[in-house]
Amino acid sequence: LPLHELVLAGAADRGDALALVDGAGPDGLRVTYAQLDTAVRRLAAGLAEWGLRKGDVLALFSPNTVAFPIVLYAASMCGATVTTVNSLYTVDEITAQLRDCGARVLVTVSPFLDRAAPAADAAGVDEVLVCDRAEGRRSILELMASTAPEPRVPIDPASDVVVLPYSSGTTGRAKGVMLTHRNIVANLVQTHSAVRLGPGETTVAVLPFFHMYGLTTLLNHPLHLGATVVVLPRFDLERFLAVIQEHRVTRASVAPPIVLALAKNPLVDRYDLSSLRTVLSAAAPLDQELAEAAARRVGCPVVQGYGMTELSPCSHVVPDHDEATPPGTVGKLVANTECRVVDPATGEDTDGVGELWIRGPQVMRGYLGRPEETDALVDRDGWLHTGDVGRVDDRGNFFVVDRLKELIKYKGYQVPPAELEAVLLSHPGIADAAVIGTAVDGEEVPKAFVVRSRDAADLDAGAVLAFVAERVAPHKKVRAVEFVDSIPKSAAGKILRRELRERERARTAG
Ligand code: ATP
Ligand code: MG
Repeated sequence: LPLHELVLAGAADRGDALALVDGAGPDGLRVTYAQLDTAVRRLAAGLAEWGLRKGDVLALFSPNTVAFPIVLYAASMCGATVTTVNSLYTVDEITAQLRDCGARVLVTVSPFLDRAAPAADAAGVDEVLVCDRAEGRRSILELMASTAPEPRVPIDPASDVVVLPYSSGTTGRAKGVMLTHRNIVANLVQTHSAVRLGPGETTVAVLPFFHMYGLTTLLNHPLHLGATVVVLPRFDLERFLAVIQEHRVTRASVAPPIVLALAKNPLVDRYDLSSLRTVLSAAAPLDQELAEAAARRVGCPVVQGYGMTELSPCSHVVPDHDEATPPGTVGKLVANTECRVVDPATGEDTDGVGELWIRGPQVMRGYLGRPEETDALVDRDGWLHTGDVGRVDDRGNFFVVDRLKELIKYKGYQVPPAELEAVLLSHPGIADAAVIGTAVDGEEVPKAFVVRSRDAADLDAGAVLAFVAERVAPHKKVRAVEFVDSIPKSAAGKILRRELRERERARTAG
């Protein structure tokens, strides 16, 4: 089934039920399911009349808005591919992505035109359309007024690429990930087998839609099941809490920095969050103590899922109504998915900690234009080598330790930075922290970057070193501390260790 058909199948019948709410301010735009259905069909007609053909790439460069899914489904209906562009990108970065995927049209919002227009020119894109109104630019609202017939494009779900997100670029250059209709629809149904989201449920979509996890919070779970999605353009703790209170949000999908705010920021206590039933965290390691502290403040379980862009994006999630969820788990396998835990040294399955290999219908078709990199990730038998290390217990609960590449090799031991970050965050005087390996006398040792809490100005390096040393085995001890104002993080909430390492290299070189 093509993506748009799955979503539109139920939409018209749901009529006046709310599909999307603009949560940026009070009294934001509200879109019912009937309106969503009409808007998608009209825009698809307008885009087809404009000349959008099967296989064309439409680039979507926009903050989270209610128009975002409408453009996405309309493009899907035309048989086109949507590539999502990071809202923080510079002109050069946008240009590179537009060129890499050969985009024909760029859809954006007027505040982004100063970056969108020069990038589109440089990359030779046919036209820049806006979702709102801008002098001298065609708006999708005009296209929606088209009286042309709805496009009827034959789609091959197994090979036609519907979304082309770029991987986060946490570990290197961002790569275009080709996800077919089948990949996305399979993952939608797979996660639905574990997480039930239907009419009467309200979610808040706060993570950026340009990232695959954020996109999932928009389209995968709620819309084809009839839930209401409140859309937030960015994470602002007060607005986020106010939206949960005002709209009686039942489920929130977040990343660890938001869990950190929920656990540590006193603002949380000022809002009525009693409607919340689950908070889901994914995208980066989450410490169990932090999850529990956040759960106590918001009054509902904070559970995890695991995935990656190349997995459309989900392979594991803690199922709703799980009888006994062990602390720290990223969940169980979603339906129709296999996972091996492989010793990277031998390539054999292990009972202990090893690299997670995943196989299932959600594994991407490949990286756009990068066959060698595709082959390096997905082997001939279809196993995707995640590059993450973890383990599984005897009840099928998986645990992720860290990225294989991030493990610090200290005297033959492997030290996961995520574990040390968790210890650091449990210190009341520490607001945020990141750990990387740094070279001291030819030995790689863990170094911590620490942000002090507002009321802990006198916290010094000696106290931090001692705090960690009391809590971990001797080979895991943090051996250097630097105080910083903030930890560099990606828009999706991942610690940019690469940036810290570059800083460190510059410092030791200078
Ligand atoms: P790039 O591949 O471009 O370097 P990236 O790997 O950060 O960037 P994503 O696809 O956004 O790009 O992220 C997937 C990664 O996020 C996983 O490989 C894993 O390392 C991490 N991750 C996701 N969920 C979890 C989780 N629950 N716990 C720990 N790590 C997680
Ligand atoms: Mg990756």
